[in-house]
Amino acid sequence: MSKQSESNFSIGTRITQIGRNPAQQKGFVNSPVYRGSTVIFPTVSDIENNRAEFNYGTMGTPTIANLENAWSELAGAAGTVLSPSGLGAIALALLTTLKAGDHLLMPDSVYKPTRLFCAGLLAKMGIETEYYDPLIGAGIEALFRPNTTTLFLESPGSQSFEIQDVPAMTAQAKARGIATIIDNTWATPVFFRAHEHGCDLSVEAGTKYLGGHSDLLMGVVSANEAWWPALRKTYDLMAMLPGAEDCFLALRGMRTMYLRLKEAEKRGLEMAQWLQSRPEVLKVLHPAFPDCPGHELWKRDFTGSSGLFSIVLKPEYSKASVNHMLDNMAIFAMGYSWGGFESLIIPFNCAEYRTVTTWQPGGRALRLQIGLEDMDDLKADLAAGLERLKMFV
Ligand SMILES: *Cc1c(COP(=O)(O)O)cnc(C)c1O
Repeated sequence: MSKQSESNFSIGTRITQIGRNPAQQKGFVNSPVYRGSTVIFPTVSDIENNRAEFNYGTMGTPTIANLENAWSELAGAAGTVLSPSGLGAIALALLTTLKAGDHLLMPDSVYKPTRLFCAGLLAKMGIETEYYDPLIGAGIEALFRPNTTTLFLESPGSQSFEIQDVPAMTAQAKARGIATIIDNTWATPVFFRAHEHGCDLSVEAGTKYLGGHSDLLMGVVSANEAWWPALRKTYDLMAMLPGAEDCFLALRGMRTMYLRLKEAEKRGLEMAQWLQSRPEVLKVLHPAFPDCPGHELWKRDFTGSSGLFSIVLKPEYSKASVNHMLDNMAIFAMGYSWGGFESLIIPFNCAEYRTVTTWQPGGRALRLQIGLEDMDDLKADLAAGLERLKMFV
């Protein structure tokens, strides 16, 4: 809805309007699903001059364009491309800025599959990845080499939740002509304005809060003016796009994303507060709480928090105790991913894969995603679980 898109309505309103146009949809509120490979050209002249809004399925469809355009508006980006998964979007962003012989800087707190992509594919292309302390801030400059072309950020860090000094780091990179990519999945553009904080490319695993229902995989990369042409070119060369139904589901998820995020924020804060008061919990790693590394930066740069955070249990609880807690949860389920309607809990240990920082939180760690179930039921489930910890001490 281009008329409204140019408006100054708040994000909660715009998110209900972007990426659809009832006047072009025979009046229906939502856009139809376009599926297709071939696009018909009426004349030879049309085909020779490539006169078509869409000329082949790999170049996009109205369904894909609706999602891309809506995301660009949401993220304040010059342009957006999609990918069939969040990891695919990370790959697309990295392949846009990197070439053989380059040096890449990655935070030691990065999402583990990103690490595996660097080791398994970028290394094969002659790209060297160096890991850095996510809390290094402006000190990142000391790690820049003549062939450093990309600085990757992820804030907060996967599982361990370190908040990075994004404005300071992107300023250092910009001064040296180094491209910056951020994985902004946790905050989404609703809670962190990546491009306004200096990031050239911003990645979102749409699988999480955009889809919102644990029923689709989706990746999104948005770019500022400087990097948009290169991003679009990389995407067009590979033609790795999500299917039409998944784009439709992502657009449907977008309509409630703001509302769900605000609710996730409220619930996450309430549960983190409750857990902090429990005697079994050593600390809460939630960006809105002072125990979280970089908490002051979160207060300065973010406008909110989502429903995913971690806790560290007191050191007396053994692996057997934690297993007994987790194997018998009634509502919290164990599984990867997050951002859906259901509550999840997983044990983790970043120390197993970090290479330049030591992760010693002081006890066993759990990551929680707070879903949409009744809060009292969720607290009762966790309270019973924390009681079970004591059975093996
Ligand atoms: C889940 C996740 C991804 C990957 O998304 P998929 O769609 O599962 O590939 C990337 N980054 C972060 C921070 C994630 O949590």
